[in-house]
Amino acid sequence: MSNTKYVFVTGGVTSSLGKGIIAASLAKLLQERGFSVTIQKLDPYINIDPGTLNPYEHGECYVTEDGAETDLDLGHYERYLNIPTSQANNVTTGRIYQSVINKERKGEFLGKTVQVIPHITDEIKRRIQILGETGDYDIVITEIGGTVGDIESLPYVESVRQMLWEKGEDNAIVIHLTLVPYLAAAGELKTKPTQHSVKMLMQSGVSPNILVCRTEHEISDDIKRKLALFCNVKTEDVIQSIDAETIYDVPNLMLDQGLDEVVLKKLQLSSPLKPELKVWNNFLQKHKNPKHEVEIALIGKYIELQDSYKSITEAFIHAGSTHETKVKVRWIHSESLTPNNFEKQLDGVNGILVAPGFGDRGIDGKIKAVQYARENNIPFFGICLGMQMAVIEFSKNVLGLKDAFSTEMKKDALNPVINLMESQENVTEKGGTMRLGAWDCKVEKGSKTYNAYKSENISERHRHRYEFNNDYLEQIETAGMKATGTNPKTGLVEVVEITNHPWFVGVQYHPEYKSTVLKPHPLFVDFIKAALKQSKK
Ligand code: GLN
Repeated sequence: MSNTKYVFVTGGVTSSLGKGIIAASLAKLLQERGFSVTIQKLDPYINIDPGTLNPYEHGECYVTEDGAETDLDLGHYERYLNIPTSQANNVTTGRIYQSVINKERKGEFLGKTVQVIPHITDEIKRRIQILGETGDYDIVITEIGGTVGDIESLPYVESVRQMLWEKGEDNAIVIHLTLVPYLAAAGELKTKPTQHSVKMLMQSGVSPNILVCRTEHEISDDIKRKLALFCNVKTEDVIQSIDAETIYDVPNLMLDQGLDEVVLKKLQLSSPLKPELKVWNNFLQKHKNPKHEVEIALIGKYIELQDSYKSITEAFIHAGSTHETKVKVRWIHSESLTPNNFEKQLDGVNGILVAPGFGDRGIDGKIKAVQYARENNIPFFGICLGMQMAVIEFSKNVLGLKDAFSTEMKKDALNPVINLMESQENVTEKGGTMRLGAWDCKVEKGSKTYNAYKSENISERHRHRYEFNNDYLEQIETAGMKATGTNPKTGLVEVVEITNHPWFVGVQYHPEYKSTVLKPHPLFVDFIKAALKQSKK
């Protein structure tokens, strides 16, 4: 039996209140107090994971070390805590039902009728406790996706109710995040939506221990008392979460409100350490007071929903802070970049990043952006599909292989410089079947990549089916694009660079997933440095 304590975070009134950021901020404060903490997200949808979801539906699909395709909140957890998450940190209703149905087919329920209660709720509780039972964590914070009152959240709320009963009040608590809206016409903050959402939770047998109230204005002590009285909590357990300038302010705001203290008190835990947030505040100070500014063009096909590139824009913030530089993003839809307008659209940027993606929509625009960066000595960073486009552009325009393409977009390309990986040839199912998660890469000494990492041996996370076609390696290298990073076992090209260029790096992997506040990613740091140099020209 482990002594792990459980904190559940539920949401009420509306979605998008930032449960993930509150959970991550609390975890950060507890970590600073010396506890080992992890955060888990339970998502009430039927997809097994977000891997097959269109980014327009769900934002970025975040990938863990062990190759799980997960919710983008896991990215926040890693960026705040600087520790990796795994398969166990994201569970969906689809996955819960899949396990239960698999067991039923194996006859494991011994003839019993399989039901939401107890079978689905048991499986939910098992998944919640998997992390606790590793013995690695003092505290597991579980964020319940969705909003209380949704039909699909009911089995989760019931599982929480059961766990509170089983573990006892010293070992499991609920934080309910709500909205306290400001009615301009009345000039007042309104508590009624919070009262209703707490009532809804109570109808399911769960009484929240702590309320965190999102608000645009300071919540007075009177309103806190009112909320406490009607929601059955102590006044000190009503925590205000006022709108912040940046999500990275939230740990400090929660510290000022004493969220960590009330949580520890309820869980009967104590620590001699006070959260200092030293490195964090140093990062924040530089982020908020930049001395320089660069503008980076981000070329992608999902830019209408900027959450599709969450880890990339956060990595810009981390790297920007390192250089005391504000990184302004010029969002460019790849479909809008045409041979007639690309010069105008890209004019004046200090760096160009061609983003990951799938399928052929907007491909020509991406190739044009690469060409512009290459010919005008603009720092270029290609990630996954962006790297593949760099190889295609170079093959077309420098090697003169007019028909160079990826077989993803053109099955019968005469020069398939990007090709389906051999291991993918017999893959028919779409879910969870890409080359996923962490793989080793050997970096060539003296390359830009080596100079950034200061190491020959790196490991980075992947999510792709296509690869650099090594049949073209010699030709491409002779013409000036070098493979400076390769998989030591398979020889698969992981990094390409153009030597005769200020900063031109394409990576088959996703460096953005590993950038954190404490450890900004070396390639992003170096890219921003190059952009800064470009801006001074
Ligand atoms: N579509 C490309 C592939 O599957 C690139 C994927 C990506 O950018 N993540 O290889």
